[in-house]
Amino acid sequence: MARPKICLLFCGGTIGMVRNSKTGALQPASSAIDIIRDFPEIQKYVQLDFKMVVDIDSSNMNPENWTKLAETVHKYYDQYDGFVVAHGTDTMAYSAAALSFALQNLSKPVIFTGSLIPLTEIGSDGRNNLIYACLTAAMDVAEVCLVLANKIIRGNRAKKYHESFVAVFHSPSFPDLGELGRPTVLHDWRKKRRKRKLSFNPNFDQNISLLKLFPGFDPEIIQKVIERGAHGIIIEGFGPGNVPFLENSIIPQIESATKQGIPIVITNQMEKGVTNLSAYEAGLVAAKAGAISSKDMTTEATVAKLLWTLAKTRKLPEIRKIMEKNLAGELEG
Ligand code: ASP
Repeated sequence: MARPKICLLFCGGTIGMVRNSKTGALQPASSAIDIIRDFPEIQKYVQLDFKMVVDIDSSNMNPENWTKLAETVHKYYDQYDGFVVAHGTDTMAYSAAALSFALQNLSKPVIFTGSLIPLTEIGSDGRNNLIYACLTAAMDVAEVCLVLANKIIRGNRAKKYHESFVAVFHSPSFPDLGELGRPTVLHDWRKKRRKRKLSFNPNFDQNISLLKLFPGFDPEIIQKVIERGAHGIIIEGFGPGNVPFLENSIIPQIESATKQGIPIVITNQMEKGVTNLSAYEAGLVAAKAGAISSKDMTTEATVAKLLWTLAKTRKLPEIRKIMEKNLAGELEG
C-alpha cells in the first residue's frame, strides 16, 4: 500500500531550537529543516515532505505569519493527505484557532505539534510528538488539531496550561478528539474525512486590543484604546463575563464603542468557563450596552476569530453575527 503523503510545515518553536552556548537560552537553530530531516524512521510509515514557513520563537508569531501558513497549506492542499505544523507551544493555540478560520471545511487534517525540549537534546518530547502528529495526519481526521503528549485536541478549543511531558495543552470546554496510545483512539465527535469544498480566507486584521478586568480597572483605558483607533476590543470579564457597572462602570465605554461601530466582545477569566451575559445584572447591562458574548470560546479562539472577522467586514451587525455563530467547532450553537 502506498504510504500517505504528509507535508510538514515548519514554523519554529522549541522543537527546532538549539541552546546558545554563551547564554544557555534556547533560540531558533540556523538550519531547523536539517534537524527535522534527520529523522528517518517516520518515513517508513508516511512520505514526509518539508516546507519552511518561518523559524521563530512563537512569541513572535503574528497574523501575517498566520496568513503565510494558511497560504502554504492552500498551495499544497491537493498534493497531500495531511499536514503537520511544527510550531512553538507558547502561541500554538492562537495559530491553530486562526488556521481553523482561514481554512474552513477541511477534507483532511492540519495537525499542530511542538515540544518542550528541542529535538537536538537528549530526552526530547519532540520526537514522539512529531511521530504521533505525522501518524495522526494520515488518519481519519479532517480538522485543525493539536497533537502533543497523549492527546488529540481541537485546535480552536486548545489552551496551553502546563509545561510537562504529560500535559501541555488542554481543551477545557470541549472533549478531546482522541487519545494517543496503543491503540490510538479517535472519538466520534471529531470531523472525519470526506470530500468538502475548502473555504479559504487567509486574511486577518491586525488592530484589536485584549483587556483583562481587575477590581478597580480604570474605564479610561477602554476610552484610550478606542481613541487610538482599535477596530475591536475583547474584554475578559469576571465570572461568566461580568463587568463593573457601579463605580468604575465600563458601560458608557461599551455604549460609546458600539455607537461608533467598534465591536466589544466579552470573554471570561475562568479556566473552564463559559461566557454568559444573562446570568447576572453585571453581564446583562454589558449586553444591553451592545457587548457581544464570546460564549464558550477560549480567549485564544476569540482573538483569532475577531481578527479574522474584521478582515472580512467592519460592519457591526455582521461582525456580531459571525462572532456568535459556530464556524469551525469553536463554540456550541
Ligand atoms: N518559546 C517556545 C515557543 O513557543 C516554547 C515552545 O516551543 O514550547 O516558540
